Amino acid sequence: MWKSCLGLTRPRAATLASRSRILSRNIWRSSVVKTNAGLAAHLTQAAASAAALRPRSSTVAADLSEQLPDVSPDDLPIISSGDRKVAVGWDTRTWSRFHNIWLRDHCRCPKCFHPVTKQRLLNTFEIPPDIKPVRIESKPQGLEVSWPSTEPHISLYPWSWLQRNSYDPVIKKTETVPEKILWGAKIEQSPPSVTYEEAMAGDDKGLFKWLTNIEKFGFSFIQGVPPTPEATQKLTERIGFIRETQYGKFWDFTSDLAMGDTAYTTLALGAHTDTTYFTDPCGLQLFHLLSHTDGTGGASLLVDGFYAASILKELHPDAYDLLSTVNIPSHAAGEPGVLYRPSPPSGYPVLSHDAESGELVQVRWNNDDRSVMHGLEPGRVEEWYDAIRKWNSCLTSPDSEFWVQLQPGTAWVVDNHRVLHGRSAFDGKRRMCGAYVGVDEYRSKLAVLTEKFAPDAVLQATSELPYVVVNGRNIWNSAL
Ligand SMILES: [Zn+2]
Repeated sequence: MWKSCLGLTRPRAATLASRSRILSRNIWRSSVVKTNAGLAAHLTQAAASAAALRPRSSTVAADLSEQLPDVSPDDLPIISSGDRKVAVGWDTRTWSRFHNIWLRDHCRCPKCFHPVTKQRLLNTFEIPPDIKPVRIESKPQGLEVSWPSTEPHISLYPWSWLQRNSYDPVIKKTETVPEKILWGAKIEQSPPSVTYEEAMAGDDKGLFKWLTNIEKFGFSFIQGVPPTPEATQKLTERIGFIRETQYGKFWDFTSDLAMGDTAYTTLALGAHTDTTYFTDPCGLQLFHLLSHTDGTGGASLLVDGFYAASILKELHPDAYDLLSTVNIPSHAAGEPGVLYRPSPPSGYPVLSHDAESGELVQVRWNNDDRSVMHGLEPGRVEEWYDAIRKWNSCLTSPDSEFWVQLQPGTAWVVDNHRVLHGRSAFDGKRRMCGAYVGVDEYRSKLAVLTEKFAPDAVLQATSELPYVVVNGRNIWNSAL
């Protein structure tokens, strides 16, 4: 899955890139057709009022028009309709099939889908199970389907949307999300970083750069932060709400064991992710060393869990499978007032994957917080200990560990679902502050900034159609 190159690895390029480009040309060409008679025919009063909110004009589409030559109508996908499905031929060899009921359920005309709230209006359960189009047409804008109805009901599905959501077969995604770059110790040569000024600037460009760093690398430094809790808290809140935990909302602490956790000691801490004992571990952690007096040590350790996992998968695929399937129970019990365990209490595996794409999406690992392993099959106990020993070797290999001695003024933020952190032992007095941000807040902010600064070029081509972009968001947005 991941290809290694000088310690940096990236996912394989999307296979359908060239086909997408051809499709996007078709769709761009269609966007010069200002109205769609079918859609216009059944606009409701509600939708008409929504139209008062003017669709945002597209700057990207304007740029594209100069690059893309005109395409003949011969390039439109070939379509055919059967008793239960509509088939779309992207080229002579690749066809997608969509069930009639699925298409009807996904109509996004203003009667079926609220263009402002982006919520389904259609009553799915009133669709006849054997529904069949009365007519289908391959249009430059997309697949047009007329449904049997007392009044005309016409759906239009953009080609790019159909291709993206093809399930029979699944077509390799060509999303424009930033690709993840896996890294090892060599990242020290140029770690991803933004300045405090960039991150705080009101135009959000620097914030987008910061969050894109986190998306690509799983962490980012922020330099030039005033060494105060107040400035650090403001910086954190640029991303979203701070997630309050048993350690408080925004923490500002010294190594005095004020809380019952080893983080509040001077001990070395091996690479781990935080809050493994939560059902939903904290998404981001921001950390800032405010001062270190009368002592030395306390270097920060960062390890890319996705990189370590890619090495484990390559060298020990059986161990990787065990870490992906055996649940680990864990707890936080150092404070008398709390006793955290995840739900369900059997916990979660070290490596979690997206059920649909199979991609690694989360690393959850803190051996110190692990509870009793009573769920292991007797025959796999030694095998499992062997697997975590191999995992530990991948994490603690000099090739994986990025050590950095931070000074006040430089904060780091890690994706706690990917990058593990730790530190060396220290003496003297350290004052540290930081906070957690929930994964959903972070993802939402990144998605909104991506819409603003890196809009989906394929979607832009649909934005000229009526009722497609209302309140600045396209109804065919891949997130909906
Ligand atoms: Zn409809």
